Amino acid sequence: MNRIPHTLILAALKQHVAELPDGREMRALGQGTWRMGEDESKREAEIEALRTGLDCGLHVIDTAEMYGEGKSESLVGEAIQDRREDVFLVSKVYPHNAGGDELVQACDATLERLGTDYLDLYLLHWRGNIPLEETVDGLEQLKADGKIRAWGVSNFDVDDMKELLALPNGKHCAVNQVLYHLGSRGVEYDLLPFLQEHGIPMMAYAPLAEGSDVKEKVFNDETLNRIAEAYNATPAQILLTWTVRNGNVIAIPKAGQKAHVEENGAALLLNLTEDDFNALDEAFPPPSEKKPLDVI
Ligand code: NAP
Repeated sequence: MNRIPHTLILAALKQHVAELPDGREMRALGQGTWRMGEDESKREAEIEALRTGLDCGLHVIDTAEMYGEGKSESLVGEAIQDRREDVFLVSKVYPHNAGGDELVQACDATLERLGTDYLDLYLLHWRGNIPLEETVDGLEQLKADGKIRAWGVSNFDVDDMKELLALPNGKHCAVNQVLYHLGSRGVEYDLLPFLQEHGIPMMAYAPLAEGSDVKEKVFNDETLNRIAEAYNATPAQILLTWTVRNGNVIAIPKAGQKAHVEENGAALLLNLTEDDFNALDEAFPPPSEKKPLDVI
């Protein structure tokens, strides 16, 4: 694909948004940061990639206290220091920190590393042993204190979501972030419809199948490559546009290289047809039964 001007990417992104329960919007493509900040020799390129992403309008930046034990958050902090208002900033708390004073301390440390005084969204990274109600109440308190604008969860399957929504403040959950890509479609069976029914956007992590056994199979797939060629696009772009095809899904590919982030942003300029989606369904069929939630 030829190099696309950032203004065109931004215009496309503005037309693909997911609405949060509180009415705010997240653009359908964002930027992941797992493994960023861990290798000093890549630091400059990673910061450039994140800032290029922001120039293109990929405003969602997803990080976590777990990533490099704070190194990823520090790198993000450096990348956004003069442009906090351009970012929809998401971080995640470890399950063992998700309650009591530990939650407040973890959030404060995250804010400090990111060089900001608020997060747009704070997620429970996965379920641990601290009672869900304690976590939710703590997150609500952080919201009341102005440290986070909203909270959500990650790696929650339907049963976990039901338990969450039954809690007094559970309905304030803003998103669920789970693994989702063309080679792992289990969530389409019940979780994605459940979230859609409750107006909760889904954040799709590893949309480029990183860390998956099927990554090679996906990228080498004949149908995927045929469609990519037909649009003068790359397989990665087809994967991204496929992931966010139905609205209320936000994909957060991680790209430590400027060229990758520009390519990813431009994916939303592609208008795949019903025939393309049907062909991809044939190559990677949607689930016909419940599957355990795929995780990394
Ligand atoms: P991913 O986004 O599926 O793949 C990242 C890999 O794809 C990197 O090696 C990257 O290379 C490469 N890439 C990016 N754009 C590309 C392009 N246009 N063409 C070819 N290759 C490209 O994997 P991920 O990082 O595991 O997942 C994305 C984000 O989701 C994470 O970074 C993290 O923020 C989040 N996540 C959340 C959880 C959770 O439990 N909640 C778990 C895993 C991930 P370069 O870096 O060299 O550009």
